[in-house]
Amino acid sequence: MVEKNKTTVARPVKHEAAPSSFRRLKGMKDVLPGDYPVWDFVLRTAFRLADFHGFERVDTPVLENLSLYERSSGRTSDIVTKEMYSFVDKSGDRIALRPEATPGIVRSYIEHGWLNLPQPVKTLWYGPLFRHDKPQLGRYRQHHQINFDIFGEASPLADVQVIFLAHQIVSDLGIKAQVDINSLGCSDCRPNYINKLLAYYREKKHRDQLCQDCRKRLLKNPLRVLDCKEPACINVAREAPQMVDYLCDPCKQHFVKILEFLDGLSVPYNLNSQLVRGLDYYTRTVFELVVPSQTAERPLSLGGGGRYDQLVEYLGGRPTPACGFALGVERLILQLDENHVKVATSQDQPDIFLAQLGDGARLKSLLLFEELRQVGLTIRQSFTKDSLKAQLALASQVGAKYTLIIGQKELLDGTILLRDMESGSQEVLDFKKVKTIMAKRLGKN
Ligand SMILES: [Zn+2]
Ligand SMILES: [Zn+2]
Repeated sequence: MVEKNKTTVARPVKHEAAPSSFRRLKGMKDVLPGDYPVWDFVLRTAFRLADFHGFERVDTPVLENLSLYERSSGRTSDIVTKEMYSFVDKSGDRIALRPEATPGIVRSYIEHGWLNLPQPVKTLWYGPLFRHDKPQLGRYRQHHQINFDIFGEASPLADVQVIFLAHQIVSDLGIKAQVDINSLGCSDCRPNYINKLLAYYREKKHRDQLCQDCRKRLLKNPLRVLDCKEPACINVAREAPQMVDYLCDPCKQHFVKILEFLDGLSVPYNLNSQLVRGLDYYTRTVFELVVPSQTAERPLSLGGGGRYDQLVEYLGGRPTPACGFALGVERLILQLDENHVKVATSQDQPDIFLAQLGDGARLKSLLLFEELRQVGLTIRQSFTKDSLKAQLALASQVGAKYTLIIGQKELLDGTILLRDMESGSQEVLDFKKVKTIMAKRLGKN
């Protein structure tokens, strides 16, 4: 009976073949162990500089009310109409996966009364964003941004600071970028400009050249016609009236001051009258950080931002001038890849490799591993390997300076064998003293 049962159990169970659909979603990306050193390099560089400039870290949830984005980005923006991941949750609330960072940060600013803190409030934010758009070079449906925002400061120096900071980060990463900059004016001067723009585009010879999307944009959001990527539309936009010629005096002074400071700081910039950034909430300054790409036709944008003086009020807060900059992490990494930047990691050239033979030695080296970590040494090991030969091969493969070996004999003697991996010379050390000796040799005391 027992025997019979055994055979039943032992018979291989027929599984259905694994579905081939378990692959990552279109436009999504895995960050693999080999990718991480570069990610780490980008984030560390950005965080260090932002901290130096007095920006403080904040986080906001991935999920927000859908209406937050409808209200801030504008119902007619591409983000809201085409690209947002949204759903009705189990309580019947309309929810969106955040497609951009600023509305959530502004919501948080209002909700927590940051207005009562000493102004300006300078925030640093990092996280993933979600857009269901056509995946393109360096742009994924889940991508990551680093955002710096300054709330409660109307001075053009705030614009200068976020631009300068973004440019510094990118320079520190070894990327040569320039700033594309434009002014979109304010509610006083923009309407007049929009009329001039509409008059231009309504002329038959111009209108006839526009793509279908732009003809619709003309009705809902005429500024967006200026940054259409269709060659015909780019052509018509070249001769279109430029906002900078219609700025009111305060807007003009604001813009000129920024340019003067960028000159003084040697931040290279280019006046780009077609730059509108596609979001309803920008006032006055808009900017992008761009680099000429070797693989793409158009310059690659590493990130951008602008001033949004009315957004806080528009989302229910008290009137608060604000501006911000967002850097695209995947775009920066793509650029580092193009420049073949090699990033050093903590895993590079460990001080010590720990090798062992047998379970007793294994336990002892696990304890030693922790002791050596505490004195600040970098250690590699392979506790799962039994063969000494394989362990020594791994030690030279990872480029360890020294290997410490505990075998049966060393375990009994209370000693440990030290091997200099470069010279191949070996010496026997007292196990109790090994931590002090190694720390001294490797300059950790
Ligand atoms: Zn104005
Ligand atoms: Zn177009």
